[in-house]
Amino acid sequence: MSGAPYLSVVIPVYNEEANLPGLFARLYPVLDGLGRPYEVLFTNDGSRDRSFELLKAQHARRPDSTRVIDFNANYGQHMAIMAAFERVRGEVVVTLDADLQNPPEEIPKLLSLIDAGHDYVGGFRLQRQDSFFRRLASLLINAVRSRTTNIEMTDQGCMLRAYRRAVVEAVVRSGAINTFIPALAYGFSSNPGEVAVRHEERHAGVSNYSVYKLIRLNFDLITAFSLVPLQVFTMFAIACSAGSFVLVVILALRRLIIGPEEGGLFTLFGILFFLLSVAMVGIGLIGEYVGRAYQVVRTRKAYHVREILEAKD
Ligand code: UDP
Ligand code: MG
Repeated sequence: MSGAPYLSVVIPVYNEEANLPGLFARLYPVLDGLGRPYEVLFTNDGSRDRSFELLKAQHARRPDSTRVIDFNANYGQHMAIMAAFERVRGEVVVTLDADLQNPPEEIPKLLSLIDAGHDYVGGFRLQRQDSFFRRLASLLINAVRSRTTNIEMTDQGCMLRAYRRAVVEAVVRSGAINTFIPALAYGFSSNPGEVAVRHEERHAGVSNYSVYKLIRLNFDLITAFSLVPLQVFTMFAIACSAGSFVLVVILALRRLIIGPEEGGLFTLFGILFFLLSVAMVGIGLIGEYVGRAYQVVRTRKAYHVREILEAKD
């Protein structure tokens, strides 16, 4: 394929050997049907199964439209997307999951909104096919996000999205790590749009997200985009110290007027423990921000590419 493609499709892959054949079989016909030049960028995010072999074989089958970035280890879905964003050649970039939860057949729908003038198109999932726990967690985090950031998004978890090249370049330039790409890109778009997309059950295998990884990701989502948690904590701390000051005054007066009390010991302990736990939460929160600042200051690449398979031109 000579010249720059119109479309770049970006797909992070982590232990998806059971899904890749089905993905190839459905994705390429859809893209061929667009009648526009395209490329597909897969990032192998340190898979421990045969995913990389399958990607290699696909690259051999379609060398002109397939590129494979191979990480040396697992750096997470969003870093896998970031590595591909740094290398895309298309005017329009579409992201999608490798597990067929985002039907490739929905890509033309996104592109028609791009053609209509949007520079960012987010998919939102109709009838989400995930566990009750996942949906509840999403509901909660959605509520927190919409209150702490000014990002307006129906479904932040849906990775089926399309971006104009300029938005992708802004994301790359920002140098953000530990980030949540849909939210970051939203901040760089000037005309975001949304469209409903189908959502399918994971084709094979299990979700790569453990509860731990999910919590980390959602922490990234909040702390990477707003300082509200820090400010809420500070205000809460101010209210607490005002309250305890009043308490100390009351206890001092009581001591002078009524005399020493003995029974109040446990009340004091209760208050003490409460304040202590508040302080601990605060220290943890501050640690989150400091840790993030440290990672940025250190200016180390957040991932390492071992190999890139692509046609040289
Ligand atoms: N993924 C990745 N690195 C990871 C975890 C996931 O590249 O550390 C990829 C995975 O292969 C899939 C997408 O990110 O293409 C979404 O992952 P998954 O389906 O496990 O997440 P869920 O759909 O449960 O949110
Ligand atoms: Mg999935």
